[in-house]
Amino acid sequence: MSFSDFAGNPETICRLREMLARKRFPHAVILSGAHGSGKYTLALMLARAMNCLEQPTARAEKSEEGTGSFVFDLAAAAEDPLTDTLPDFCGRCSNCIRIAQAEDLDLRFAEAVEARENMRDADKKETRLFVQTHPDVLIIPPDPPQMMIKVDQVRHVIETIYYRPAEARERVYIFTSSAFMKEAANSLLKVLEEPPEFATIFLLTENAGELLPTIRSRSMTFNLGALAVTEIESRLAQLRPEWNARQRALVARLSEGAIGRALSFDLESYVAARTHALIILKSALGGADNNDAHTELFKVTESYRSGAEGREKIDNLLRTLYALLEDLMFLQSGAPQLVRNTDILGELKKMSEAADFAWVQRAADGLGEVERGLRRNLLRSLSLDAFATALERVS
Ligand SMILES: [Zn+2]
Repeated sequence: MSFSDFAGNPETICRLREMLARKRFPHAVILSGAHGSGKYTLALMLARAMNCLEQPTARAEKSEEGTGSFVFDLAAAAEDPLTDTLPDFCGRCSNCIRIAQAEDLDLRFAEAVEARENMRDADKKETRLFVQTHPDVLIIPPDPPQMMIKVDQVRHVIETIYYRPAEARERVYIFTSSAFMKEAANSLLKVLEEPPEFATIFLLTENAGELLPTIRSRSMTFNLGALAVTEIESRLAQLRPEWNARQRALVARLSEGAIGRALSFDLESYVAARTHALIILKSALGGADNNDAHTELFKVTESYRSGAEGREKIDNLLRTLYALLEDLMFLQSGAPQLVRNTDILGELKKMSEAADFAWVQRAADGLGEVERGLRRNLLRSLSLDAFATALERVS
């Protein structure tokens, strides 16, 4: 694992590595990008590059003291567009290994939550949530149940940040969300006003506008943009060889340019939800006379009952219904290249011929009704039936 494994945004990665090479890395960095764009992966890579004991670079030279720090050859880098002279990390030293143990954030977060759950009530209240696999690298996730960064979490950052790192060169703090409680944001601001020279704070956000303007002005912001569909497809060909080309094409189009979403895409649930969505739409398109379609429809909608676990299932179904309707609109407006469900293109074309633009529009409005009904806790299966039959009457 090295920076070359990071998917996309090569210019941003290059700029960040150049700042590392020049020892001009900012004390506070905002990494902004969509869910799954690689913000956390990148922050952990930078944390390793800052603290790697081997500090690999293609043309690294040992400094006079032989401390393992290197002299960066900028002229060589300028000549070499491949930037193989920029700092990287080895992935094998004790710092790299321990920092990498935080890679699976969902798992580490779940462990931290469980550890707190198992505490005595008195301790539970006192304990704030962190993920830490290296003594000098602290990851601060939003604290449940509110899923906000709390003032006690930031206080802990303030308590530790002014001590020199024990085993690393640079203390690293990674806030994985920009949802700060007000007092927490104000406390963070105090740190940003006077950060120690040996600490770096990463703020990860899907929307930098959520952060206080005074926090933004004391940080340097880098955006991770969406990747091209073809780029995601070729990454999937390497990393998800178990998917066939049609499946990879589908996932690449559904992940909206975010490699993390593509890699963690649950293809099986998606296809299951889409099968149901197609039955509902086809039943509505088939009209009120088609009894077989009705029987099938009710079988499907019956399976969406109320209950906590059913909520996610119906959310998936609704998202899939919207995605299919959008694809139908792309076909009807003569933009088939934008269709995402490319693996069922033939089926979609037939449907788009049976439905006119107004029907698709009504269907989208009808879905909005279903969503509002769900918020009012109407029975899920009934509101889906109502959705399908309402479309029949007007078609
Ligand atoms: Zn290393």
